[in-house]
Amino acid sequence: MKLLSTGNPKVLKGIKQGYNTYILHLAPARLSGHEVCPKRTVGCTDSCLNTAGRGGMFKRGEVTNVIQEARIRKTKLFFADRDAFMVQLVKDIQLGIKQSERLGLIPVFRLNGTSDLSWEKYSVDAFINSSGKLVFPANIFERFPEVQFYDYTKVLGRKVKGIKNYHLTFSAADGNDGDVTKAISQGYNIATVFGIKKTVPMPELYLGTPVYNGDESDLRFLDPKGVIVGLYAKGKAKKDTSGFVKYPTISLKIAA
Ligand code: SF4
Repeated sequence: MKLLSTGNPKVLKGIKQGYNTYILHLAPARLSGHEVCPKRTVGCTDSCLNTAGRGGMFKRGEVTNVIQEARIRKTKLFFADRDAFMVQLVKDIQLGIKQSERLGLIPVFRLNGTSDLSWEKYSVDAFINSSGKLVFPANIFERFPEVQFYDYTKVLGRKVKGIKNYHLTFSAADGNDGDVTKAISQGYNIATVFGIKKTVPMPELYLGTPVYNGDESDLRFLDPKGVIVGLYAKGKAKKDTSGFVKYPTISLKIAA
């Protein structure tokens, strides 16, 4: 079973910058019968990008599709046979590295495309490195120290400080304002979904912090530090009333 995919529109923007993003999409929330989003909120669950793009295209009268079924299968495998899952993940990352080399692109990996798992906790098999040494990696990030990983998370206190090749952006949602304040004080950038049209520029400031347009690419590890990563509301989020989507005050400059 192939675990990683490429090709969503935001990932394609990254290709123009020389990066090839591989994303692992699991079935979010408890859709598989297993919780993969420990800090999800009512609003983010309702607006989850799981049903964006082809993942949300259902034949008339059907409530699932091949993409949703594949995400559920992968999630079930993760919980039923962790070793087999991690072996496959290592293979897929190796393949992604080779494919990207052929294309002249830098491979990058986002394992929580539609989940919020603490990947630093899951071990992978020992391997022989390029110097012929047997290495026992603590996790997938140590298995591929030369590769950049990144994710969004709502879980504060993840033990990732010493992991140089894993970048996390904290996600604001309905009811996690306290965690957002703590995340800012811990140096995280904060991804925030704004209920404004794409034709309207991002606000300059939000919560007194400069806003950076996070829709220009998905390459969060390249973002400047100390910013709000502004995202335009998409799909179901456009109709959110839970507080997940934020409404900044925009001052319009009116030409004289
Ligand atoms: S935590 Fe993220 S992946 Fe999980 S339901 Fe919320 S938006 Fe979706």
